[in-house]
Amino acid sequence: MTILVTGGAGYIGSHTAHLLAELGRDVVVLDTLERGYRDAVGDLDLVIGDIADDRVVAKTCRKYDVDSVIHFAAYKAVGESVSQPLKYYKNNVSGTIALVETLIANGVNRIVFSSSAAVYGTPDSSPVNEDAPLRPQSPYAQSKADVEHFLRSCDATGLRSVCLRYFNAAGAHDSGDLGEDFSLTTNLVPVVMRVLFGSQARLDIFGDDYPTPDGTCVRDYVHVADLADAHVKALDYLATGGTSLVCNVGTGQGTSVRQLVEVTESVTSRSVPHAIGPRRAGDPASVYADPTLIRAVLGWRATRDLREIITSAYRWHQRHPDGFKR
Ligand code: UDP
Repeated sequence: MTILVTGGAGYIGSHTAHLLAELGRDVVVLDTLERGYRDAVGDLDLVIGDIADDRVVAKTCRKYDVDSVIHFAAYKAVGESVSQPLKYYKNNVSGTIALVETLIANGVNRIVFSSSAAVYGTPDSSPVNEDAPLRPQSPYAQSKADVEHFLRSCDATGLRSVCLRYFNAAGAHDSGDLGEDFSLTTNLVPVVMRVLFGSQARLDIFGDDYPTPDGTCVRDYVHVADLADAHVKALDYLATGGTSLVCNVGTGQGTSVRQLVEVTESVTSRSVPHAIGPRRAGDPASVYADPTLIRAVLGWRATRDLREIITSAYRWHQRHPDGFKR
């Protein structure tokens, strides 16, 4: 029995696929390599193909005797989703519908889905729990909410799903040889790393006049290794008969941009040149998780703190200054 990991050549997908393999599980990665990297897959089995290609998916299910799926494959750039909505709905929503249709036809009835706290948009308050209203503010976030709804509807077919709403994924693998692609992303930790390693002159802090303790925005940074572990626990939950579930994956701890800069300077003994700039449109002041549900139902909790996030990201950037090669 094998676990199919779609998008397993991407950031969180590759960490999860490797963790599964480290735990002795059989894994096959399905990825187009359009945005993922072959080197992130390493020596795991890789099928190069699209989730919407029923022949490839069906053949992979048969060949590997797939019994469950972790579905990461999706586009994830919020700004790009605003300018190219068709691309996002087609890949993230239509692609998932095609994938699920093929899975069901091949007797696969357990799926863990890579969702996002972006489905909450700007929550009324934090910590935010799973009952908060969904107010996606971009086609990307809407595509995640749409797939959550679709999967829940698929309960009627016998498919059971766990949708994991990630907060801010960050950090890298302990080996230093697996990490986030920092060339294109605008996420805070990779930007801070670019500043430390000189490819960006300074960090622009997007506003310091928010109603937060130090005026900068507060987020919930989760170590990618902890995130990967949440997927393993979700799979095991489904394998032991768990019913469909949607849950947050966050630490429950809010960290401001300024705090993150301070921790980075402390961990690396280097200064992070920065300046206060204008607010970024659409940024909520404070978003952090209420992780009560995932603790109670999956027995998951974050085990790594911000210092470990920064230490591991720094190691990855040091060892791979150019990231993965195409
Ligand atoms: N941020 C910042 N400068 C940057 C990138 C991010 O001040 O160059 C801030 C951003 O305003 C937010 C936090 O860092 O408060 C996390 O941003 P990111 O884009 O990583 O995640 P998201 O906003 O999606 O939670």
